[in-house]
Amino acid sequence: MIIETFVLTPFQQNTRVVACEKTRAAICIDPGEASPEIVDFLRSNNYKLQAIALTHAHLDHIGGVSALHADFPEADILLHEDDEQLYYNLPEQPIFMGIPRSQLKALGLEYEKPPQLTRNWNDGETYTVGHLNFEISHCPGHSPGHVIFIEKSERKIFAGDCLFAGSIGRTDLPGGSYEQLITSINRRILPLGDDFTVYTGHGSDTTIGIEKASNPFLTGAYQL
Ligand SMILES: [Zn+2]
Ligand SMILES: [Zn+2]
Repeated sequence: MIIETFVLTPFQQNTRVVACEKTRAAICIDPGEASPEIVDFLRSNNYKLQAIALTHAHLDHIGGVSALHADFPEADILLHEDDEQLYYNLPEQPIFMGIPRSQLKALGLEYEKPPQLTRNWNDGETYTVGHLNFEISHCPGHSPGHVIFIEKSERKIFAGDCLFAGSIGRTDLPGGSYEQLITSINRRILPLGDDFTVYTGHGSDTTIGIEKASNPFLTGAYQL
């Protein structure tokens, strides 16, 4: 499995290209903003971008969908249905987050409506990229339609903004729920196994074992 990370947007979001080394099939997980580096990386390595695979629809994870799709129009765009409203409201998202309209341009947060989704993720489906098989698991709490991608044979998960090294996703944005997020993590992430590497939406990679042992939101050290 090839994993290339691009840290993008003022939110230091981890956009990733994940590819099968044998077949050159690739997906881009959460393109945060337009990035010529991603296009160069895909083209120069001869990867075939089959999908823009979204964990959820916050602006720092979907801001680059339009630009990437313009370069690779054959790529599918996939998102859980419970985040569709957020997705199509991309131009208004900075306003919901409290950023004044007058500052959008200067901050690079002025968005057009993103392109039509190809289809929705189904909870529990297996999504194949060459020889890689990702289980799609619905983990609401940070956003209503958040999903994670689990590659069991590689012992890797792409967790978006559910779980971070030493922290968890914020739950104060519209549709967020602290209880739901903790339940998602406890039921859908932690039981996978301590040796799983967690690729997070922001910050460094971690493992389930490290987070179980030391993440204050999971050890009980932090209680709301
Ligand atoms: Zn988010
Ligand atoms: Zn994020």
